[in-house]
Amino acid sequence: MTITLDWLGCATFRLSVDGLVIWLDTFVDRPESAPSVGLTSEEITEADFALIGHSHWDHLAGADVVALRTGATVIGSHESARVLRERGVPDEQIWTAQGGEHFQLSEHVSVRVYPSLHSCIWSRAARPGTVVTGDYGVFEQERESRLAGRRARRNADADDSGREARQRAASSNSTGGALDYLIDTPEGTVLFQDSMGYWSGIYGGIRADVAVLAAAGRGSVDGEPFQGSVEQFVVRECELLRPRQVVLSHHDNFGGAPDVPDVTDLAPVHEELARILPRVEVLAMGLGEGVTLLACTTAQRGGAAGTRSASRASAPSRAPPRMLASSGQRRCTTMSTATTTSTPATTSKA
Ligand SMILES: [Zn+2]
Repeated sequence: MTITLDWLGCATFRLSVDGLVIWLDTFVDRPESAPSVGLTSEEITEADFALIGHSHWDHLAGADVVALRTGATVIGSHESARVLRERGVPDEQIWTAQGGEHFQLSEHVSVRVYPSLHSCIWSRAARPGTVVTGDYGVFEQERESRLAGRRARRNADADDSGREARQRAASSNSTGGALDYLIDTPEGTVLFQDSMGYWSGIYGGIRADVAVLAAAGRGSVDGEPFQGSVEQFVVRECELLRPRQVVLSHHDNFGGAPDVPDVTDLAPVHEELARILPRVEVLAMGLGEGVTLLACTTAQRGGAAGTRSASRASAPSRAPPRMLASSGQRRCTTMSTATTTSTPATTSKA
């Protein structure tokens, strides 16, 4: 069985499990000023399911188009469902979730849904390599007030293509309640998280063979802003989830902000993972590139799928690099955590 994962920017991925095509978020219709991912939602022809992490524009956009054009079933929060129904997606193609659900996707593939948390977009954030502290214990009323101010400034600063991309797409100002998805395949489990937040009690009980983790903004742990850096946050998650392989996301200039590199430098994250958890393999992808996941035999897996296991998986085999078919894409590299990148740094949020 072959499992592949392609990164389409932000936290959007195409996961293929032996022919079953599962979109993880559906945001590909980006502003003209953002780096292209080589695909629009109208060009997506293959989709069996779309799992939506939360209802913001840069995650839910495109889900209506994909559902209506391909017949795919969308799984998401009640808020995501509301937006999609308003845009004409039939009820039978929307499976609502709030955490606790276990859906069968095919004969051999299923997905468990967990309640999650959005990153602290109301608080101060910084690029990887910078420790950020403070803002602990801020009440929700103050958080909402700060967020409203930021949204107003963002809309005022956005160029026409950015404003238009947001206005025409499926989206909500509400997260709808962030969700994580643990996809169970015959080769292992894949955790999909699309914003930098988690409940420690939940992650402490999940075992993910592959963890797809957001690496941008100010993390949330149990509803409070993480006191530390992006790399310290990701290491903490991996200590709980104990993945063999990690894929990092949300670190590109998806909003098309001026004077911002296409992809944020995640070298501090790679270095911290290599230092603290050297057996974790980071699968690095450029925009529009893909990798093969869990390229090992089932016998090499450690523990039952989706549950905490006392045994640690054997050292991961290196997943072969893979490229998508379309032109203009850089070569995909599968790098160990000891490898660093040289992409210029920036801050990417939400
Ligand atoms: Zn968001």
